Amino acid sequence: MTARVANSHQSTLLLRLRDRGSQSRAVLGEVIDLSRSKLAVEIDRLLETGLVVQDGVAASRGGRPSHNIRLSPDLRFLGIDIGATSVDVAITNAELEILGHLAEPLDVREGPVAVCERVLAMVAELRAAGHAEHLDGAGVGVPGPVRFPEGIPVAPPIMPGWDGYPLREVLGQELGCPVLVDNDVNVMALGEQHAGVARSVGDFLFVKIGTGIGCGIVADGRVHRGVTGSAGDIGHIQVEPNGHLCICGNQGCLEAYFGGNALIRDARALAADARSPELAARLASTGALTLADVAAAAAAGDSAALELIRQGGHRTGQVIASLVSFFNPAMVVIGGGLTGLGHTLLASIRTQVYRQSPPLATGNLPIVLSELGSTAGVIGATRLISDHLFSVAH
Ligand SMILES: [Zn+2]
Repeated sequence: MTARVANSHQSTLLLRLRDRGSQSRAVLGEVIDLSRSKLAVEIDRLLETGLVVQDGVAASRGGRPSHNIRLSPDLRFLGIDIGATSVDVAITNAELEILGHLAEPLDVREGPVAVCERVLAMVAELRAAGHAEHLDGAGVGVPGPVRFPEGIPVAPPIMPGWDGYPLREVLGQELGCPVLVDNDVNVMALGEQHAGVARSVGDFLFVKIGTGIGCGIVADGRVHRGVTGSAGDIGHIQVEPNGHLCICGNQGCLEAYFGGNALIRDARALAADARSPELAARLASTGALTLADVAAAAAAGDSAALELIRQGGHRTGQVIASLVSFFNPAMVVIGGGLTGLGHTLLASIRTQVYRQSPPLATGNLPIVLSELGSTAGVIGATRLISDHLFSVAH
């Protein structure tokens, strides 16, 4: 996509077509605050750039027939969601519908060079399958803090070797298109906003409980990143003075008590001293414990495994309750790998938040699980880059 967006009216048109699909000129005339003739000029300019195309004649609503307008069917966006232990890569059309999606296990601790190599191989595979002849832009999520304008990870605790790596620049050169890099939690929040449970909500929190715990903050429809891009890093809020030592060097952080790493540590301890027969049996048969083992043990009614999840939900709920008091969101969405723990986790988070937060803040507050699962990140990443390309200044 070489065309530039000339003004805010064009930007409004492009974003609407992205989010609603094909629209008639008549409908666009009703929602865009422009005279009929000025709107026609802007649409004609966009037609000239090739960003939009005519798409047949709309069903008549009386009066003159009105042509449909849609975004170019040739536009292609790339979404890359790098997690701590897996990577998802997807190609979408201009409406951010997924045309091809690959997911692979991958340890982010292998470092940026190896991970980028793997990601580029996955992109090549998707392109070879015919999903994209070219790419118009790419969005990337990584599991750590990012200096957003430059797209550089900054001292990410679970990403050794990534500190200061010019990821945006490197991928931009390799892919030959504009690239934006953001924290994976922000990207997942954008995914929920675009295609998930938070579609109609302007102010919400997206809490990711995966290997680590983080929070995407969407205020007035926009992701709030803070001055240095570290807003929402709630995994390192202290929940226990003088508590467990955390990976970040502090004591008593939420992540030292819950999240994938803490859960597996505690599950091993329960298996080792036979407090959990289910986990002990699973450890004995495979030699290791995974999140799926904890979920299966809980589903089988193992009381120690259930209590582990309840305690984790309780601590996470404590932190979310403070966030709710502070931010007054319309919705809290819970996503990430640990949502596989299901209703037990959600119920204990809800209980704690409703108990602890002021009634005015929680009166109509839905606390819900993500609908999108593993596609939240890649859809959000394409939303991130398309927001950027369809806006005026870039
Ligand atoms: Zn910490």
